[in-house]
Amino acid sequence: MQQAQYQLIIVGGGPAGLTAGLYAARSRLKTLLVEKGVTGGQVLSTDWVDNYPGFIEGISGFDLMDKMTAHADRFGLEKKYATIVSLDLTGPIKSVTLESGEILTAATVILCTGARPRRLDIPGEFEFTGRGVSYCATCDGPFYRDQEIAVVGGGNTAIQDALHLTKFAAKVTIIHRRSELRATKILQEKAASNPKIDFIWDTQVLEVRGNKSGVDSLLLKNHSGDESVLNVSGLFVLIGIAPNNELLLPNHLDADKGGFIVTDEEMATSIPGVFVAGDIRSKRSRQIINAAGEGAVAELSAEHYLGNQAP
Ligand code: NAP
Repeated sequence: MQQAQYQLIIVGGGPAGLTAGLYAARSRLKTLLVEKGVTGGQVLSTDWVDNYPGFIEGISGFDLMDKMTAHADRFGLEKKYATIVSLDLTGPIKSVTLESGEILTAATVILCTGARPRRLDIPGEFEFTGRGVSYCATCDGPFYRDQEIAVVGGGNTAIQDALHLTKFAAKVTIIHRRSELRATKILQEKAASNPKIDFIWDTQVLEVRGNKSGVDSLLLKNHSGDESVLNVSGLFVLIGIAPNNELLLPNHLDADKGGFIVTDEEMATSIPGVFVAGDIRSKRSRQIINAAGEGAVAELSAEHYLGNQAP
């Protein structure tokens, strides 16, 4: 039978992929991690991580991912920085086709493609992206020094990032579509007691408005149907995540209605030899520690699968 080049290919270099890579390299599996950008994933745009065990005073998202990358490197994980254009996961040998035309093969694959910020899909949002509309407080917060800005969303990301934005902005208005936040109590308390943060409840953003130099206001509508205008120079859209599943769905992996990939508790998908870990997986909790833990489980499952395939 034809031999695959690798025992394991890991797709994606966030906390899930890097942890799977660390375990695989330490187990001396012939492994390749393919990442299209830089390793670190979404955590790179997280200002501060306060709840990753072992970092008592907290750690910046950048530093945490730098350490995870260095840890996998210490065991000699082979990495390739390239864009994948297609995956063929059916059959005993899985193939990964790169933009360059190169085809890589492996006996098992762990998919850690993660997720990306969701959009509001309202008029003006696309037009003003990068000129007042942002999806990353850590990246763009410093551009709004002493300005009045808004955050839309009521989850952990929205509240944590609104707190971060108060370091720069004169005022941060959190616009939430309900009267209750989804974020944890400790974040709610911090936001409620921050003098720079205001809330607008039961309200949706209908339109982002502006001119050549960028955003100048938002059109809002509350639950009673009343419309109003809020003058701000920036809008941070922090309303959750959408799965990076474009390469995965053509392979007919089982997915939930949001497009996140369904696995069993060992991270096995509906296709033998294909495992999934991190934010792309269908689940309730999306923490860095979950992603890392799932990366470890997926790698151990891949090893188990390879053991059962051995002649
Ligand atoms: P999330 O928990 O799904 O919250 C999304 C928020 O956006 C919700 O408040 C939701 O409103 C609102 N929303 C969704 N669609 C909307 C729309 N079209 N218009 C207006 N508002 C909309 O997402 P997240 O905050 O990005 O967090 C994602 C995951 O990462 C969560 O599991 C979270 O716990 C985790 N996380 C953890 C930390 C941490 O531990 N420090 C930090 C950040 C994120 P409703 O409440 O009405 O649904």
